[in-house]
Amino acid sequence: MKESASLSNASSAIRSLYPNVAGIPPIPDTLRRVDRRRLRAIARRLAKAYGTPPPPRHLPPLEELVLTVLSQHTSDTNRDRAYADLRRRFADWDEVADAPLPALARAIRRGGLGPTKAVRIRAMLRAIRDGGMPLDDRAFTAMKDQDLWDALVALPGVGPKTAACVLLFSLDRPYFPVDTHVHRVAIRLGLVPPRSDAVATQAAFQESVPDDEMYPLHMNLIRHGREVCTAQRPRCSECVLRDLCPRVGVTSSR
Ligand code: SF4
Repeated sequence: MKESASLSNASSAIRSLYPNVAGIPPIPDTLRRVDRRRLRAIARRLAKAYGTPPPPRHLPPLEELVLTVLSQHTSDTNRDRAYADLRRRFADWDEVADAPLPALARAIRRGGLGPTKAVRIRAMLRAIRDGGMPLDDRAFTAMKDQDLWDALVALPGVGPKTAACVLLFSLDRPYFPVDTHVHRVAIRLGLVPPRSDAVATQAAFQESVPDDEMYPLHMNLIRHGREVCTAQRPRCSECVLRDLCPRVGVTSSR
C-alpha cells in the first residue's frame, strides 16, 4: 500500500517534471518506466552486498549546488579541495557572485576546468539573487518539491542531475539523480534501452523507484559502478548481479 502510494506520487511528479527543462524534448512514455520487479531484485541484492549507505550530507542547497558544479569531470578529492579554497578566498556567496571571473577561476583551479566552472557558478548565483532569493543557508529550503525543481532547472547550467542531487542530498526529497555510473549500469542491466540518454534514464528511475528507496539505490548503484561495473572491463565474474544481468554492450570483462 505504502509503495503504490509513493509510486503514484512519483508518477504525478514526473508528468510535469521534464518538459520544464529547457532544450530537452519530452520523453516518450515507453522510456519512462523500468521493470519494477527486476529493479526491486537488483536493489535488494545491492543492499545485501553493500549494506546501508552513509546518510546524505544535508548541506544547505546553495552549497550542494556549487559542489555539484565543482564535481564535474574531477575526483571527489579535487572537488573538495576546490570547494575549501573557494570558501577560504571569499567571505560569502554574495562575494562569489560579485567576483571577477579570473579571481574566481583561480580560487577553484584545483578542481580543474576553473574558467568554465567559474562562469557557471557566478551565473547561477547571480540568477538566484536576481530572482529575489538571499544567497545564504535559507535559500530554497522552504519551497515545495515541484516549485523547487522548477526553480533549479531554470538556473543557468543546472540540469536534471544537479537539481535531483540538491533535492535528495540537501533536503531528503524523493528525487533520483542519474550520473554517469548509474546510467552505464542501468544500460548494461537492461533496465533502460541501450540508446537512452541520462535524462531519459533519470525520468525512468524517478517514475519507478519507491520514494524511500531512492537514496540507498542511488548510492549503491554508484558504488557498484565505481567498484565492479566499471566503464572499462567490468568485473562480471565477481558481480553480485551477474545472474540478473544481460550485460548489454559489454564486449570485454574480467
Ligand atoms: S554482470 Fe557485469 S555488466 Fe552486469 S552489472 Fe555486473 S559487472 Fe556490470
